[in-house]
Amino acid sequence: MIYFDNAATTKPYQEALESFNKTSENYFFNTASIHQSGKTASKLLESARQQILDLMFLKDYDLVFTSSATESNNIAIQSTLRRKKAFGSTILTSELEHPSIVNVLEEMKNEGFNVKYIKTNSAGQVDIEHFKSILDNDTIFVTTLAVNNIIGSVQPIEEMVKILKDFPKVHFHVDATQAIGKADIDYRGVDTVSISGHKFNSVKGVGGLFVKKLANLSPIQYGGGHEKNIRSGTVNLPAITSMAKALRLTLENARAVNQRLSKFNDQVREAVSDLKSIYVQKKSAPYIINLSFIGAKGEVVVNALSERGILVSTTSACASKLTTLNETLLAIKMDEAVIEASIRISMGKDTNQEDVDELIKALKEVYEELGDVLA
Ligand code: PLP
Repeated sequence: MIYFDNAATTKPYQEALESFNKTSENYFFNTASIHQSGKTASKLLESARQQILDLMFLKDYDLVFTSSATESNNIAIQSTLRRKKAFGSTILTSELEHPSIVNVLEEMKNEGFNVKYIKTNSAGQVDIEHFKSILDNDTIFVTTLAVNNIIGSVQPIEEMVKILKDFPKVHFHVDATQAIGKADIDYRGVDTVSISGHKFNSVKGVGGLFVKKLANLSPIQYGGGHEKNIRSGTVNLPAITSMAKALRLTLENARAVNQRLSKFNDQVREAVSDLKSIYVQKKSAPYIINLSFIGAKGEVVVNALSERGILVSTTSACASKLTTLNETLLAIKMDEAVIEASIRISMGKDTNQEDVDELIKALKEVYEELGDVLA
């Protein structure tokens, strides 16, 4: 099996697994228990928290541990909006968001909020001029992802922070789920930032929400208030220590990994450049290559590659109706044929030259096999 679906999830670092196991075995205690072992576990929790804050250069922030980026996004949006209701009703977002943002905002519309979409440029980034033009006094919330999960485009987060300095009423949320180790972004100035351990080689079931001002948030689910009175439920300490370890390794290795993946990205592009029915999206974050075998459904190509032991993913769930076409690809004005056919190849820290050679060989074989089907 050759794995090219790292944007969906990643294989944990060995050290992250060891950390998970060691904590499960030796520090299985409840961090809220007041006995000696509970206190030891709680100390470990705080040291993991501090380590993650330091690694992200967010020393002055709080960090609320969650189960996933989906949960972090839900807390940031629902909690902030309910608190800010009296100050305005407009939310600005990009057209490039993950369902864990899109669907929460849909729900917020039912609560009377008004969602406006920032236009996207051809590179798959928010159009800064359009952003400035629609920001107004009714705006209370802006949310964008940092790196898009379909094409890997990197958003101008620092520039947006600068612009928002003139709008102190606005809460700026960033979904950095796909960005960790992939894009060098300074999050200082952003109000809340979501991350998810399993996207950067930690175990699953753990995420985080960095918070500039904790007092601006309130819980969306009620219970014992374990995590800063914002998130309840017994803390998943083994997964948290695993995430801290994975974050350190990911950031330490980021430069070398990205250089290698960038070279592989170019090799794949070069290899398919003379195949006339293949459309390749512009290169952004090097770990993602999104391409379309025009004329074939993405699903068919994914299955054909899967039969050869190569795992990639589609970007359209069920590409038969316009409503199911991928939002990101629609936002960058791709036509239906490109969207229906698109597949996402996403590399990771373990991707090597042999994997890439096999991928290229398989892409060419599938191309030949599809023959007349292709446009
Ligand atoms: N945001 C983005 C941009 C993602 O790519 C994903 C996962 O694919 C999520 C949020 C949700 O992450 P999680 O699986 O941790 O809920």
